[in-house]
This record gives sequence, C-alpha cells and structure tokens, in this order.
Amino acid sequence: MSSTPNVTRFAPSPTGHLHIGGARTALFCWAFARHTGGRFMIRLEDTDVARSSESSAVGILHDLAWLGLDWDDGPEYALDGKSFGGDERGVGPYRQSERLELYNEAIERLVESGAAYAAFESPEEISAARAEAVKRKQQYRYDRAALKIPADERARRVAAGEPHVIRFRTPDDAVEVEDVVLGTIRIEPEQLDDFVIRKRDGYPTYHFAVVVDDELMGVTHILRGQEHLINTPRHVMLQQALGYRTPEYAHMPLIFNDKGAKMSKRERDGAARDFCKQRGVSESPIPDRLAQDAFDAWKKDKKQQLEGDVLEALAEAVGLHLPEVSVDDFRRAGYLPEVITNFIALLGWNPGGDVEKFDMDFLASKFELGRIGKTNARFDRTKLMSFNGDFIAEMAAADFAGRLRAFMAAEFAHFDVRLKDTSFRLGEDDMGRIAAVVQPRSKTLVDACERLSFAFVDAADITYDDKAVKKNLEKNDGAGYGVLRDLLERFEALAASGGLTGEAGHTALQSYAEEKDIKLGNVAQPLRVALTGSTVSPGMDETLDLLGADEVLARMRRCLELQAASASRGS
Ligand code: GLU
Repeated sequence: MSSTPNVTRFAPSPTGHLHIGGARTALFCWAFARHTGGRFMIRLEDTDVARSSESSAVGILHDLAWLGLDWDDGPEYALDGKSFGGDERGVGPYRQSERLELYNEAIERLVESGAAYAAFESPEEISAARAEAVKRKQQYRYDRAALKIPADERARRVAAGEPHVIRFRTPDDAVEVEDVVLGTIRIEPEQLDDFVIRKRDGYPTYHFAVVVDDELMGVTHILRGQEHLINTPRHVMLQQALGYRTPEYAHMPLIFNDKGAKMSKRERDGAARDFCKQRGVSESPIPDRLAQDAFDAWKKDKKQQLEGDVLEALAEAVGLHLPEVSVDDFRRAGYLPEVITNFIALLGWNPGGDVEKFDMDFLASKFELGRIGKTNARFDRTKLMSFNGDFIAEMAAADFAGRLRAFMAAEFAHFDVRLKDTSFRLGEDDMGRIAAVVQPRSKTLVDACERLSFAFVDAADITYDDKAVKKNLEKNDGAGYGVLRDLLERFEALAASGGLTGEAGHTALQSYAEEKDIKLGNVAQPLRVALTGSTVSPGMDETLDLLGADEVLARMRRCLELQAASASRGS
C-alpha cells in the first residue's frame, strides 16, 4: 500500500442534467476509491461559459447525492441531513472557472519554454481552413502559420491586447498511453495537430484545465468513458511538457440503448418524432408551446431537438412515455437510487459468478479495475424495470411507504395536497395501508401512484373508460348496471349497520354471485368500473377499504345516475 491514498475524480461539465452514462462513470470512480480506501472527488468543469449554468451544477450534485455517491472532496452539498464535499486536502476550489490563475501560470510556463505559442487567426479563418480540408477529404491540422511570426512580434501583439488563442506545440514523437482496461494505445505524431489550450475568451480548453487540475488535485486514477480515449494522448503530452505525473487511466465501455444507438437527448426526440409519424399526428399537440410550423419542421428534420420541457409536454399530450436518459428522468419515472446504481454497475463491470443484485457496500468491496470489460455495454430498460419491481416488492413496508410518500410530494402534487387536507378521506396516517395496497406488483413509484389514482379523485371527477363501461355495464341490455343496482342495495344495508368494510363488501359480493349463479368476475367487474372508472384496480377488499363506505356508495350511485341520464338522452 502506498502511503498516500488513491484519488479518483468525477468531472462533469454543468451544461445539462447528469446523463446515466456519467452516473456510471461517477459510480465506478466512487467504488474504486471506496474499495482501495481512497478519496472520491467532484470537480465542476465549467470553462464553457456559454453552456454552463449554476442550476445544472446544483442538479448534478443533487443527483450524485441522491444516488448515494458521497464525495470526499469537492463542492459542498447537503441532502437529507447528510453533507458531502469540502476541501480537507486543500486542493480546491472545485469549479474550474475559479482556477483560471492556476491555468494561466502553467500556460505562461509553456509559452516561455516554447512549448506553446499565441496564434491570431480568427475563428472564421480557422473554419474556412477546416472546410477546405474536409473538401479535400483530409483531416484538418493547424498549419503552424503563427510560428512563422517572430517570437518577439507575437509577444508584442499579445501585450497589445490582440485577440488570440494559445496553441500547444505538439511534440514530433509518437505518444503511448497505458490503459488499465484497453492496454497500450499508440498515437503517431501526424494524428495530432497543435491544439488550442487557451481560448480567445481567456478560458483554458477542456484538455488543458483537466491536465493541470488532475496534477494539482493529486488525482491518481482517471476512470472515464471510452469517448474520451481520443483525448488521452493529448493529455499525456501536456503532462510530459509540464513535468507532471501521468495518472493511471481506465477507459470504460460505451453504453448503447437496446437499439444499439447512443443514449442521448436525441434519442428522446427520435422516439417522439417516430411516435407522431406512426400515429399520423399532423397538428401540433401543444400549439401554445410549439407552433405548427415549428412542429412540422421538427418532424421533418431528424437533427432538430426540442427544449426538454417542450418535448415532455408534447409526449404527455400524445400519451407517449419518453425513454429515460438522465438520472433525473429515471428518478421522475419512479426508479429507486439503489436499483439504478446496482443496474449501472453492471454496464461494463461484473462481480463474477452469477451475482447480479447487490448493494453499494457489496460493490465497494468487490470493485476492481481488472473486471471492467472492453466491449460496449447495452442498457436494457426492460431489465432495469424488472430490477426495480423486484426491489420494491422486497422493501420493508415502512421504507416503501416513506419513499412513496416522498415521491408523491415531489411528483404527484395533487396526492400530496389531498393527504395534507384534513377534510379528505385519506390522510398521512393512512399512508401505511395506502402503500401496502400497491407495494406488490408496482414496477416503479409512478406505476404505484397511477394504480392509486382512483382513490385520490372525487366521485364526481372519475372518468369512465368507454370500453370498460360498454363491456362490463352496458352489454346484454345493461346486465352490469342491474348487478350494480342489486349490490348497491346490499352495500347500503351493510353500511347502515356500520359494516361496509372491504372484507364484508367482498363477502357480500361473493354470496350475491353464488345466489344468482353469476360468475364472480361478472359481479366484481361492474363494481370495479363503478368505483374506479376502469377494470384495473387493486384487489376488491383493498379498493373498498381505501375508498371507505361513504365514497363506495357515492360512486355506485353516481355511476347509476349517469346510466339513467344517458338512457333518458338516448330514448
Ligand atoms: N468534463 C468532462 C466531461 O464531462 C470530463 C472528462 C474527463 O473525465 O476527463 O465529459
């Protein structure tokens, strides 16, 4: 064991939500640090000023904390009474925008030694040269025109404030990178050009800031996705030019969806576009938010993306469930953090043997870089959902009730309002039995809430599913309504003696079916439609219990009144 601990870092750019692939990277960094008794650090890479935002930074920290990825060093954050981050090692600050001086010092060093130089071409000139190279089917390389300007003249122009970038003069030798997962990677000098290390706005590029920070912050192990492999030779060259250590690198497999495509925001647009085309949706489903011509243009152009909230509003309006891509998407879809971390741990890693379900302690105890795979990982959303359902079913009842309650507060505001309203028939004290009804068989917390929604509406607001009404109430000259009328009489009698409990109601229903020699289903389904508007609901005892006697009777009466109203309209 070395005397200084391993340090891993997760270094998100705060330009949007935490992508599920980013969460996998963070998880592996966390697990490796925990496995080796090291430290896990968070650094916010916010040098892209135009695209970075504080709200995105906070969102990412929240998602990491919610997943249980407690970080030792980094921005401070607190969630549910636990606090994360801090600067115990004194290597902060942890936002790159607050570290410009450190980068500038290193850049000055490189410029002085001739390993970097100022270049004055405008962005337009560079774009034109790039376009020219594309036309010639060649890879663009900066032609080092600035190096033809004498060094003192370059220095003078910089001092005079002329806009410029700083480029790294790439060495003429090949560079080799040792990757723990992929082995030796060799890059020939002609594959790299003199890339920019400081932009015209004075901010360092990603390549430069990352190298300086990983050195100054004592990072020993860089675990990141294979999409960054292409950057690593540049980083190693910069480390060598600056006299830095080269940390250990481990590049993790890419993650694809079940169609073999990248999981991205684009995938969500694609799903919505395909859905609209297949269903022949020709008019904008949300005209106040998405004008018709914008909708048409988006439908035609596969590259176009809608703003996240507009896309969600559109999906909701057409009844489409968008594929989840970010941690926030999965949380709002009712996945539990323990399940997400378990599931993403398996994207490119496995503990060996048949073990598939495990918790964070297990992961930390088993996580070794040697078991990271080389081949692309497949994100199977169906499998995740089944993991989630299994986890929910096995949770301690009180734990599930607590999480469901918190989820209602966050995502199903109308449930929350009702539970707090003392005049509503269900209250906080009922949460245990409410949760117990849906804990078995709910795949997600959304699923659980949807299965409970019948209990949170008023009798007058139930919407009856047309098909269910036709099949279970109207068919055979309204046989279902007849059943309902008879049951109402029996239930009223039970209620009058104070005995319309779920169990008593259920027994009454059974004896009615036996007496009349009707199949139980032909008695229960009409009642179910009357009580919930549809044929899907929890068991009859539980449905009756959740509603309570008065509400059960009110719903049965309302259903019969609606029939009477429609009969008188029809006649
Ligand atoms: N800011 C980079 C990203 O979000 C981090 C890459 C790295 O880990 O070096 O992709």
